[in-house]
Amino acid sequence: MTANLIVVSGPSGVGKSTVVKELKERAGSVWVSVSMTTRDQRDGEVHGREYFFVTREEFEETVRMGEMLEWAEFAGNLYGTPAQPVADKLLEGTDVILEIELQGARQVRARFPQAKLVFLKPPSWEVLVERLTNRGTETLETISRRLEVAKIELEAEAEFDVSVVNHEVIATAETLLDFARSHS
Ligand code: 5GP
Repeated sequence: MTANLIVVSGPSGVGKSTVVKELKERAGSVWVSVSMTTRDQRDGEVHGREYFFVTREEFEETVRMGEMLEWAEFAGNLYGTPAQPVADKLLEGTDVILEIELQGARQVRARFPQAKLVFLKPPSWEVLVERLTNRGTETLETISRRLEVAKIELEAEAEFDVSVVNHEVIATAETLLDFARSHS
């Protein structure tokens, strides 16, 4: 049995990280990749847990060295998946989850056609706006930038292997788990 590379994507505010966290608790054996980013650290975030927070120079150097599996610019910041840890986990037979935005998901699709791409979508546009606003982590300007990108991301749903409406975190995590198991 080979390990799965699972990509969880979908617009900012849809609840990707909460769902992935729940998934990890339910399936202790999956490994969730920690991305590198140039965005500012939010309150409560820990370097090496949510992200590796780096400068633009450090990020660009990692890209230049060919050490990024995929990367993208999102709402003014750079985000990327360090390649080596993912390769190591897959080699040892552990399922890997990447929680990334659309451009990165497309790069993974091109490089690893066998990857499973999951699209998380909100119950409605209004709910997405509400979730992004109520999260309280972003300025109004950032929220509107993220909503602009969200419109484009929502149009890409058909590129994914499966799409799941995130009504409720536990049910969504269960659905994703079933999907991963049925593809192993
Ligand atoms: P946030 O700033 O809200 O943590 O993340 C912004 C967006 O970047 C989210 O859609 C998130 O999934 C995405 N993201 C996080 N890490 C990566 C990554 O390594 N690569 C790509 N392409 N997107 C990422």
